[in-house]
Amino acid sequence: MNPRDLVIGAAFAGAIALFAWRAHALTRSGAIAAFAVGTLTYASGTVGFTLVLLAFFLPSVALSRVGRARKRELIDVGKLGARDALQVLANGGVATGCAVAWAFTHDPRWAFAFAGAYAAATADTWGTEIGTLAKRQPHSILTLRPVATGLSGGITLPGTLAEIAGALWIGLIGIIGIALAYVLGTFDVGFSVSKAPAAVMVQVLALVALPLGGIAGATLDSVLGAAAQELRHCDACDRACETDPHVCGNRTRRVHGLPGLSNDVVNLLATAAGAALAAGIVNALHS
Ligand SMILES: [Zn+2]
Repeated sequence: MNPRDLVIGAAFAGAIALFAWRAHALTRSGAIAAFAVGTLTYASGTVGFTLVLLAFFLPSVALSRVGRARKRELIDVGKLGARDALQVLANGGVATGCAVAWAFTHDPRWAFAFAGAYAAATADTWGTEIGTLAKRQPHSILTLRPVATGLSGGITLPGTLAEIAGALWIGLIGIIGIALAYVLGTFDVGFSVSKAPAAVMVQVLALVALPLGGIAGATLDSVLGAAAQELRHCDACDRACETDPHVCGNRTRRVHGLPGLSNDVVNLLATAAGAALAAGIVNALHS
């Protein structure tokens, strides 16, 4: 990590965070967190790392705007408005840690862990945003019983397809990132093979490891969402929700799940799982 990259990264991440804050995609705390995530990612990684971050961030902002009126009507869990710092760190914290670890070790497993975390975050975000717009009622991933639209743990066919598409999308961007790093001369996979075959081999690996990490992470997110995530109830509105207080301002009571196991904590665990699986696949195929 050199000072020049930190300055360039800060300028770049600052511009995007400011824009996202002005566009109400991020709250002020969310913009500050995104600034830190973007700066560290640029300064730690190759340009491929930044590409993966943007491939997660930009479509998720765009998707959150699709059908916003309908989502407002259906969702009151507060996760589809402007993202705050906790939400930014729940999605990007694990990946940023992996990017920093990569900067100090140049161990390819950290690079795959970085992208695997974003594959999980992307899969989950696409699944949630598209699934919320599905006409049919979602069903619990565990019991298959119908659940309210927008609550964690519910799955729909369009949402599941979107999840898979999001995971594949990061796999594709991973391949482009690897090619870019190779062209720019920053390609450093740490494998003891000559460079050109290694580039192709790592690209094939990315296409396998990143989508699998992403789908596994997003599935864990749904399972934890259904089985263990804190679910609350607003008696004033007679509505299930995930926040306390409810958007209406009244206090809510916990009806299910572990206290404190919020959507943010579940997202953090899901990205960690995506990172671990992507890195683990690379490790298994290369050791
Ligand atoms: Zn309420």
